[in-house]
Amino acid sequence: MLEITKESIEKATAKARQTKPLVKVIEFRLYQVTNRTSGAKYTVKFSKVGGKKFAECDCKATKICYHIGSTIGLHIVLAAQTVKA
Ligand SMILES: [Zn+2]
Repeated sequence: MLEITKESIEKATAKARQTKPLVKVIEFRLYQVTNRTSGAKYTVKFSKVGGKKFAECDCKATKICYHIGSTIGLHIVLAAQTVKA
C-alpha cells in the first residue's frame, strides 16, 4: 500500500492527463484502468487507515503511479457521495 500525499498524487495526475487511460469502476474503492495504447489492464484499490489515504495498483510501479492518478478524481467524487448517502 502506498500513502497518497499531495505531492505524489499531483505528479501522478499530471501523467494521467497526458496518457488518458480508460477508467472503469468495479466497485466502491476498486477501479480498472486500461492503457489505451497497449490495452494493458491494471487494478487500483483505495483504502483509508487512521485518517490517512492509501492506494495500491498491480502494475510494476513502486510509487503512486498514473493509474492511481487517473482514478483519484473519480474516487473523491464517489467517496463524497457515499459518505452523504
Ligand atoms: Zn499502476
